[in-house]
Order: sequence, then structure tokens, then C-alpha cells
Amino acid sequence: MFHHKREKTDTVTVALDHRELYRLPWTLPDNAIAWLEPTMKCNLACEGCYRANVNQHKSLDEVARDLDVFARYRKTDGISIAGGDPLTHPQVVDIVRMVAERGWKPILNTNGLALTEDLLLDLKRAGLFGLTFHIDSKQHRPKWKGKTEQEHNALRLHFAEMVARVGGLTCSFNATVYQDTLDAIPDLVAWAQEHIDIVHVMVFICYREPAEPKQFDYYVGGTRVDMAPLTYAETGQRIDISAPDVVAKIRERIPDFAPAAYLNGTEKPDSFKWLLSVRLGTSKRIYGYLGRKMVELAQVWHHLWTGRYLAYAAPAVSRWGRSMLLLWPFDAGLRRTLLRALRSPSLLFRRLYLQSIMIISPVDVLADGRQNMCDGCPDMTVWDGRLAWSCRLEECIHFGQFARTVPKAQALPEAAKAEVVALQRAR
Ligand code: SF4
Repeated sequence: MFHHKREKTDTVTVALDHRELYRLPWTLPDNAIAWLEPTMKCNLACEGCYRANVNQHKSLDEVARDLDVFARYRKTDGISIAGGDPLTHPQVVDIVRMVAERGWKPILNTNGLALTEDLLLDLKRAGLFGLTFHIDSKQHRPKWKGKTEQEHNALRLHFAEMVARVGGLTCSFNATVYQDTLDAIPDLVAWAQEHIDIVHVMVFICYREPAEPKQFDYYVGGTRVDMAPLTYAETGQRIDISAPDVVAKIRERIPDFAPAAYLNGTEKPDSFKWLLSVRLGTSKRIYGYLGRKMVELAQVWHHLWTGRYLAYAAPAVSRWGRSMLLLWPFDAGLRRTLLRALRSPSLLFRRLYLQSIMIISPVDVLADGRQNMCDGCPDMTVWDGRLAWSCRLEECIHFGQFARTVPKAQALPEAAKAEVVALQRAR
């Protein structure tokens, strides 16, 4: 669980109107992704990690039971195989095969540390669809300590090139955004463009940690609990960086950067928990962005065709940018892109790539204690035979269920504070 308010410093939040974007159609029972955790073990200790690092793998039977839960409760296109780091699991190839055999796209979420090209080939033969590499400068990687976020682009490129050599796999990168790495985002976006032919998705996850202990108490049922032993402890980092802040930062370098679709918060319909932009271009130039209609068309078409919402497109689809321009009558973003492209006719002979940029703002706790989660959370995992938010699994492990945030009396608005005081007196 994570909180919201700490002093805003140097970001200028841009006005984004959710009513002008497409609300991704993902829901609890019918989603694009689900989140499998076959292990709690990791070979790194990232600062922003929300999972305890425990040397404990699930057996293949336990993994099968988790997959049964997904099959029972949730239509999904892809399964993110995460953890811990899934490559620490000695049977990761079998797990990928199990997911693929059930008709889902297996996506490995890994820090890449244990990845070799031979292992990647084995994973591909087992049915792997793609990889999401979590790489950022706060992972304390051996040999990368003290390197900047931008210097980590060399490591990102190492993995992107390995995936491209093996071929036929989607390649995505995650980076957690902290107050002191926010300024690096435009450089990461520029790096992704430079490698648009082999990097398909770039994800920025705003850092979160537990709600301010001075403002909130935590309850499980009627019992007050201590959050301190949980992994997501206080670091002093800002925890209110949101998707509009990240967009503002990107627009300092790319003024026309244009999100097209979003997931709202469960408590705030106009908050952006997942914010998707899809750009079309080459390594030299971005010609434009898909508009909301095109994202809607892709989701609806995929659902009509396959019965599932689209999670990750095959890498070949990322090369369809030019053909996609033919759909200009449906989408304002494509019309703008086409007009720009027509001004450089040589483009007709060049390949145009698609690349997604997703910004995720995990849990925010509102002043009244409500927890603003991602509505239609794609990263639902399994806890005790049911679906649970993977970002807060530690609460289930420690307390058997999620904890509620309750504002302390002094943090309440005046009217409520008077009410609480009166109640206390009456007792
Ligand atoms: S609510 Fe779901 S999608 Fe949002 S941060 Fe938590 S696990 Fe991820």
C-alpha cells in the first residue's frame, strides 16, 4: 500500500482530460494480462521492489493451480511471468511451456541478470512470446553501481539486441521513476526511438511506498497493524509523481507527445493509473501518434476476433506503421501522422515502426483513506485461490488480506475531526 502526498518539487503537471482519451476496456474478469509469480526469489535487490526476496519457488503443481485460477476467473491474452525473478526458477522453461500450452502469451518479466542467449532460445522454443526487462539505476547491479539512468541504456541495448538476434519476440523495458530519475525520462524516450526497430514497448512506473504513518493507521478487520515489516518501506523518495508529471517531463523534449488511452483509478475517475501512447516513426523521426479511435479499434477488433483484449502485439505488427496509415479515415492521430508523412514522400519507401510508451502510477491513498487502485488492474495475481493485486501481495502474505488505510483523527477535515472527538467523548 502506498501514499500520495509529499511536497511537490519541480514538476509541472500537464492538463490531460480523461474524457478525450480512450478508456482501455480491461476489467477484472476480462483483461489483457494476468500476473503469475512462480517464485519469490530474486538475484537483485532493487530499491523500489514491493516483494520480499525469499528463496522459495513454487512447484509446477502450484503453478498449474495458479493458472487454473486465471482460467476460472479471467479471460486474458498474455500472462506476465514475474516474481521474484522468474529466471531464478530452475523450471522456468517448463513454466513458459505450461502457459503457452494453455493458449496464453507468456511474457517474462525479468531483470535479465540470469539470461543467456542459449536460455532465451530454449524459452522461445517453449513458446515464449516476449520479455519485459526491468532495468533502472536503482537496482544495485554488480558492475553498474553508480551509473546513471542514461548509462544504463547500454545494458538495455545489450538485451534488446539479444532478443532481436533470437527473433520473433516482443521486447519491452520497465523503469521505476523516482524523483531523482524523473529528469532522465526524455533521454530514455529518445533512446527507445533510436532503437524503435527492436524496442517495442517502454514502461515508466512511478515509485510508490506505504502511506505516511503520521497521517494514516492501517487496519485488517478491526485490528490495527504495523506496516513497518513489509517490504515496501519508507525511503524518503517522493511518492506523488503521477502520469501527468511524466507526460509533462516528456513534453519538455517532445511537445507533441500524445497519450491515447488510459485506465482510471478505482476511486478517482479522472486519475491516470495506466496511460498509453503509441508513436509511429523511424529511428530518426517520429511522425505522429495513434489517436484514441485507433487504440479502441485495435482492442475491439482483437476481442471480436479472438475473444480477448490485446496485451502484446507480435513484433511483426510493430513494422506495420505504414500500412496502418491507410486507416486514417477512422482516427485523428493517424490523419495528423499521414499529413506529416506526405510532406516527406521518401517515407513511402521506408518502414514505419510502432512503439508503445506506457506510464503506470500505482496505488494512491486519498486524504480520506480510500485507496485509488488501477481500475481493471492488469497485474492481478493469485492469492489463496483468488485474484489479488500483485503490487500489494505482501499484505496478504503478512495479514491474510489487504490492509485498509484509516486517517488519524488529526489528519481528518475539521467537520470529521469534530465528529470523531465527539464520539470519543461519548464513550
Ligand atoms: S493495482 Fe494492479 S496494475 Fe495497478 S499497480 Fe497494483 S498490481 Fe499494478
